[in-house]
Amino acid sequence: MLNIALIGNPNSGKTTVFNALTGSKEYVGNRAGVTVEEKRGRLKGDEEVIITDLPGIYSLSPYTKEEIITERYLTENRPDVILNVVDASSPERSLYLTLQLAEKGIPMVLMLNMTDFAEKKGIFTDEKALSALLNIKTVKASAAKGQGLTEAVEAARKAAKEPFSPYLGYIKAPRRDFLPPTDEEKEIKERYDFIEELIKSCAVKRKNGVSITEKADRVLCGKFTAFPCFFAVMTLVYFLSAGPIGSFLSSALSDFTVDYLGEAAREALAAVNAAPWLTNLVCDGMIGGAGTVIGFLPQLTLLFFMLALLEDLGYMARVAFIMDRLFRFFGLSGKSVIPMIIATGCGVPAVMSSRTIEDPSKRRITVITSTFMPCGAKLPVISMISTAFFEGKWWVAPICYISGVLAVLISGIILKTAVFSFRENTPFIMELPEYRFPLMKNIVRTVYDRSFSFVKRAGSVILIASAAVWFLSGYKIDGFGISPAADMSESVLGVLGAGIAVLFRPLGFGDWRAAVATLMGLLAKEEIVGVFGVVGGAETVFKGAAEAFSFLIFNLLCTPCLAASAAIGKELNSLKWTAFALLYQSCFAYAVSFVIYRIVSIFPN
Ligand code: GDP
Repeated sequence: MLNIALIGNPNSGKTTVFNALTGSKEYVGNRAGVTVEEKRGRLKGDEEVIITDLPGIYSLSPYTKEEIITERYLTENRPDVILNVVDASSPERSLYLTLQLAEKGIPMVLMLNMTDFAEKKGIFTDEKALSALLNIKTVKASAAKGQGLTEAVEAARKAAKEPFSPYLGYIKAPRRDFLPPTDEEKEIKERYDFIEELIKSCAVKRKNGVSITEKADRVLCGKFTAFPCFFAVMTLVYFLSAGPIGSFLSSALSDFTVDYLGEAAREALAAVNAAPWLTNLVCDGMIGGAGTVIGFLPQLTLLFFMLALLEDLGYMARVAFIMDRLFRFFGLSGKSVIPMIIATGCGVPAVMSSRTIEDPSKRRITVITSTFMPCGAKLPVISMISTAFFEGKWWVAPICYISGVLAVLISGIILKTAVFSFRENTPFIMELPEYRFPLMKNIVRTVYDRSFSFVKRAGSVILIASAAVWFLSGYKIDGFGISPAADMSESVLGVLGAGIAVLFRPLGFGDWRAAVATLMGLLAKEEIVGVFGVVGGAETVFKGAAEAFSFLIFNLLCTPCLAASAAIGKELNSLKWTAFALLYQSCFAYAVSFVIYRIVSIFPN
C-alpha cells in the first residue's frame, strides 16, 4: 500500500490531477475552494496506491477550515508521500506552502502543474535547478493535457522509499510548536526571502505586454462597466437557454415523452389486457407527470452548459468579486450569486454549490434563501397563471424573478440581523484566476452531474408523486376500504385540501384545489400545474387576478420541493437549522402573499 496525499493551492489543478490519476469524476471548477472535504481514490491501474485529494490551501497556519482539515490529515494519517501540486504560472504564491510542507519532514514530490499555461504567459521554470536548490524531486506537468502525471507518480513511489532531507538552510531561528507572534513573523519572512532567491535563480519571466486577463478585467471588472457586462452576459445566457432554441427543444422532447411514449405504453398495456386503472396510472399519472418534467431538460442542460462555460473560463469568480460589495450589505457573500444563478435552473445543484462560501453564517443564509429564485420547475406555474389571468403579458415572468431576488436580499437582512446577528468582518479574499480557455471535459462533466441530478429527481420523486396524485385524486376512503370517487372533491386529496384551505383564506385562495396544488408543489413544483390539469383549470379555481397572483407568489417563495429541501438539510447538516429554514421560507412566503394580496385587491382588475 502506498498513500499519496495531493496538496496545493486552490486552483492549482489538484482535482484535475486527482481525476486523471484515479479516473473518478470529481467536480472541477475554475474558482477557489471547490474541494472542501478530502477525497480518496485508487490509482488507475494500480490498486495498491491510494490517492487523497485535500482541500486547497495557501499555508499550513490553521486559520481556515481547509487548513485545519489538511493539518489534521497530515498529523493523524501521515501519508507515505506528499504530491505537492504547484501552479507553475504563479510559483511565488505556491512555494510558501511547499516550504511549510517540506519542514514537516514527510517525503514529498513537487509537481509543477499547468506548465502549458505558464509558458503561454511567458513564465518558464527550470525544474532541475529548483529540484537541486530545494533538494526535492520536481516534475513538470500539465494535468489538463495528461502530461507528467505518470512521471509524478513514479517519482512519488521512489520518494516514499528514500530518506527525505529537503534543504532547510534558510531557517535561522529555531522552530517550536507554539511561537510568540514576533517569532512567527520572523519565520514567515525567512520563507519569503528564500522564495525570492528561488524564483531569481529558477524562473524566467518574459513579459509580453499587458496580459489578456488584465485587459479583459479592465472592462469586465471595471467600475462602470462591470454591471452592464454582467447583465449583458446573463441576458444572453437566459436568452439562449430559455429563449427560442431552448423552448423548441423542450416542447419537442415533452411531445415525444408524453404523446409518443404515453401512446406506446397504452397500446402495449392494451395488448396484454391490463386493467384500465393500471393503464391510466401508467399513462396519465406516471408518464404524463414525469414526462412533462423531463421536458425541461433541454433548457436546463443549455443553462448548465453556459454557466459551466463561464465558470471554467474564469468569469464566475469575477461575478462573485463584483457582487461582493453589494451583497455583504445583505448578509451574503459575493459567491452567493453563483447559487442564485444556478437556482434559476434547479435548486438542488444551487444549494450544493453554496459550499464554496467560507463564512459559515453567509453560507447558511445562502442555503436558506437561494431557492427563493424561480427554478425551471416553477416556470410552468408562472406561465399557467400568466396565461389564465394576465393574457400572457410579458412582464409576469420578470416580476417573478425580481420578487425572487428581492426575497433573497430582504431575507438576507432579516437573517443577518435577527438570527445570525453578525457584523461584517471578513474581508473578501478570493483569488481571481487567469482567464483560461475552457476545457470541454470539465464542462461536460459538470453539465452531466447537474442535469443528471435533475433527471434522477424526475425518475424518482416526481414519478411517485405523479402516481400518488393520480391515485389520491381518483379514490376516496369508503368505510374500511377504498372506492373510486365520483367527484374529485370527495377524493382523499379533496378532503385533505379542504382542511388545509382554511389556512390560505387570508391570502385569497382558500379553495381546496389551490390547497392541494400547493401541497403537491412540495413534492415537485411542476406538480402544481399537474394538479390543475386534473382538478380543472386555474381560471375556474381563482376568483380573480389578485387571488391568482397571491397564489403564484406564495408558491414561488414557500418551502421548495422535496429534493431541494433534502439538499438544504444536507448542506445545513443540522436538524434544527433545517427545520428553521423550511419554516422560515413558508412564513416569509405567507407574509409576502398576505401583503401583496391586500395591496393588489385595492385596485380593481
Ligand atoms: P483545484 O482547485 O486545485 O482542485 O483545481 P482544479 O482541478 O479544479 O483546476 C482549476 C482549473 O485549472 C480548471 O479550470 C482546470 O481545467 C484548469 N487546469 C488544471 N490543470 C491544468 C493544466 O495543466 N493546464 C491548464 N491550462 N489548465 C489546467
